[in-house]
Amino acid sequence: MPLGITCRYARGPMPYLFETEEHAAVRASARRFAQTYIAPHGAQWEEDEEFPIELYRTACGAGVMGFGYPEALGGQGGDLGHVLVASEEMVLAGRSVGTIVGLGSHGIALPPIVRFGTADQQRQFVTPCLREGKIAALAITEPGGGSDVAALTTRAERDGDHYVVTGAKTFITSGTRADFVTTAVRTGGPGHGGVSLLVIEKGTPGFTVGKKLKKTGWWASDTAELHFDACRVPIGNRIGPENGAFPMIMMNFASERLMLATQCVAIAELAYRESIAYARERHAFGKALTGFQVTRHKLADMASRIAAARALTGESVTRVLRGEMAAGLASMAKNVATDTCSFVCDQAVQIHGGYGYMRETLVERLYRDARLYPIGGGTREIMNEVIAKVEGY
Ligand SMILES: Cc1cc2nc3c(=O)[nH]c(=O)nc-3n(C[C@H](O)[C@H](O)[C@H](O)COP(=O)(O)OP(=O)(O)OC[C@H]3O[C@@H](n4cnc5c(N)ncnc54)[C@H](O)[C@@H]3O)c2cc1C
Repeated sequence: MPLGITCRYARGPMPYLFETEEHAAVRASARRFAQTYIAPHGAQWEEDEEFPIELYRTACGAGVMGFGYPEALGGQGGDLGHVLVASEEMVLAGRSVGTIVGLGSHGIALPPIVRFGTADQQRQFVTPCLREGKIAALAITEPGGGSDVAALTTRAERDGDHYVVTGAKTFITSGTRADFVTTAVRTGGPGHGGVSLLVIEKGTPGFTVGKKLKKTGWWASDTAELHFDACRVPIGNRIGPENGAFPMIMMNFASERLMLATQCVAIAELAYRESIAYARERHAFGKALTGFQVTRHKLADMASRIAAARALTGESVTRVLRGEMAAGLASMAKNVATDTCSFVCDQAVQIHGGYGYMRETLVERLYRDARLYPIGGGTREIMNEVIAKVEGY
């Protein structure tokens, strides 16, 4: 075993240091689900730009929708750490990033309702997603801008016991199929002090879904524009206090960023593993690609960057779970993991040569999927703004 790679490759991904036996059980159940229900079809679903809607219900039945949610609401219990390791296993075993992010859109839409919603709202919106396969989406971004959340313009005016919502959202994951959308609206004056969160249900008059958007990667997940034209939403669908949503949205972003960092580490790991397997099989100039030092060093660089991204992501998660303020560290983790993912997927395509450029090859798809991560959930530049603020300059 000249490289030590054989050994690690055979062992599978390195668990995060915060993991316990409980996390191992979560991994096992997420892996079983992904191997059984996603891996055999994922490549086709990516080409079809859609996975079957029944998968939500199947995932509920398998118990994999509920990680990190209270048992009283239909979840499996656990915390952010359990959510993240489940997501990693789903990427590794399912091999279809688009399916996993589509299936997981509740992971950004439900937490504000769990944290700040009333018991009635939780029963009405959270439990049906975890038990019956209802679909939830989160809508913050607008056609006019996503980074400057405090400047959002979708307006919600009070009219009796309703809000009348007018405006548009875009790039919304699961937007075409969502049963309800946790939506950021402006109920007050300009700036972050005038933002509220409303749950807007499918079928509410005035709420329409625009076109399904075609994109670079994440093909199996649907991404949509949403339109609100004098859409009447009951006041009872407001999550938390009027004009008090900005801190809730920021808190939600903090977990989302760690989730995205974990996905980047997982995608990079998958691309790395594919590359090792290919480099061992493919021959050039009379020997396997692993026989060239340049290939081995490429793989070693990939492994090193994955280990660094995993370490930083794991440390951020650990600090968040300890209750520390880790916004700066989480933003660093997202940027480092994003860069790792882009680098590793690019190297993976290179190792695969011409096949790396072909649609039939997994690393070709991962390379496209990777491009989202420096943009979604807060761009690389916005992460740097957060880091600069936390660092004090
Ligand atoms: C596939 C996909 C899925 C998505 N899913 C969702 C979803 O489910 N829900 C949702 O609400 N949104 C979603 N988004 C939207 C995503 O979060 C936004 O695209 C992202 O926040 C950036 O917003 P923007 O696209 O409007 O870019 P802009 O805000 O217009 O930014 C454009 C460029 O300017 C830079 N920039 C902006 N402000 C600054 C600054 N202060 N300093 C330096 N540079 C700056 C940005 O970094 C970026 O490079 C999704 C996007 C994609 C592509």
